[in-house]
Amino acid sequence: MSRHVVIVGGGIVGCLTAMELVQRGCRVTIVERNQIASQTSGESSWAGAGIMFPLLPWMYSDQVNILTHYGAQHYGEICAQLLRDTGIDPQMLNSGFLLLPTFDRTQALDWCERYQVTARAVSAADYGVQSPHGDEALWLPEVNQVRPPCLMHALRAWLEQKQVRLLEHTQLLPLPAGTDQLTAWQTQDGEWIRGDQFVVTSGAWSFELLKGVASQLQIKPMRGQIVLYKPVKNLNTVIYREGFYLVPRRDGYLLAGSTLEDVGFDPSTTPEVLAEIRQKAEAILPELSGLPIIKHWSGLRPGTPENLPVIGAHPSVGNLFLNTGHFRYGLTMGPGSARLIAALICGDQPWTDPSPYALPEH
Ligand SMILES: Cc1cc2nc3c(=O)[nH]c(=O)nc-3n(C[C@H](O)[C@H](O)[C@H](O)COP(=O)(O)OP(=O)(O)OC[C@H]3O[C@@H](n4cnc5c(N)ncnc54)[C@H](O)[C@@H]3O)c2cc1C
Repeated sequence: MSRHVVIVGGGIVGCLTAMELVQRGCRVTIVERNQIASQTSGESSWAGAGIMFPLLPWMYSDQVNILTHYGAQHYGEICAQLLRDTGIDPQMLNSGFLLLPTFDRTQALDWCERYQVTARAVSAADYGVQSPHGDEALWLPEVNQVRPPCLMHALRAWLEQKQVRLLEHTQLLPLPAGTDQLTAWQTQDGEWIRGDQFVVTSGAWSFELLKGVASQLQIKPMRGQIVLYKPVKNLNTVIYREGFYLVPRRDGYLLAGSTLEDVGFDPSTTPEVLAEIRQKAEAILPELSGLPIIKHWSGLRPGTPENLPVIGAHPSVGNLFLNTGHFRYGLTMGPGSARLIAALICGDQPWTDPSPYALPEH
């Protein structure tokens, strides 16, 4: 009998973990309190911008860069496989990344050399954008993007095809303190979900679920709001300036964001942030001024110190694993983090040293 792994949470991290486990011959169930590939109460994966690159990677540790770099390199294969097997296109696009001042040029160029990422000094004016703090931009042509709702739909269809059991609209209860061995987990409706191993991929809600057995886990929701424009002209690169980005989609829609708000589990959008995003977007592309906003949404990122996720076995609860806390880069880190947790669950050789991602003992 193959090993049965129960995954708690059907966002990008849960779905990619399921994909890896299926490919290693496991039987997999995903338990999701809402519906996979949709957004009901702030789920992060649907809401993300889908840039397959940390915004300023030189600001992060090697542990973060190892995971994001792995994802940036492997999304091409994953998206091609999803399209081939399901017919659903995750809309991966090589749009490049235009970095406008101000930024630390020396740090950026050193990092690009170290990670062998192409960087070219360019003029912002040549891209038809306004750059109030100087024209000397940096162009990273290899950066890709995906469209998160399309990626999630493709993943859901792929998992269904592979007979992964999707237990949607099913919420698991927090694990009680004192649990030392997990063989079944209780749902809100009083049923018990059995499995050989359990992986928590519950994003921003992971601490609520695990505080009885992992009070040392530092995860809290960090809201991000995004707006969607239909632009007048077709921009074809991601633009980043001082914490703010514009992401042109394949069909010409233009996404602008985002915010980092410490407001608990509140997934609402606010008129103040809408005005702030519009002002920043229009400072870069004045022709956006006065254009209608097609959509405005938010997501709750699983915020962690230093953007470092927790990936590994729980130090004292048998059969319990964590793959959570990917904060700002869960879409990008997802493939590497799924491959790592799947190896740890199956007793295979991990592709990278897992120790920096381990949950510390109490
Ligand atoms: C505005 C914004 C922009 C972003 N842009 C990017 C980007 O450009 N690039 C990038 O790499 N990342 C980006 N991110 C970050 C990325 O979206 C997240 O890191 C990632 O989605 C986290 O995935 P997850 O699967 O851990 O969480 P989620 O997608 O939130 O999934 C967790 C799931 O667990 C379920 N769940 C919770 N509790 C329970 C329970 N008790 N029982 C059952 N199910 C439960 C939830 O319903 C949810 O579906 C962005 C995020 C936001 C909000």
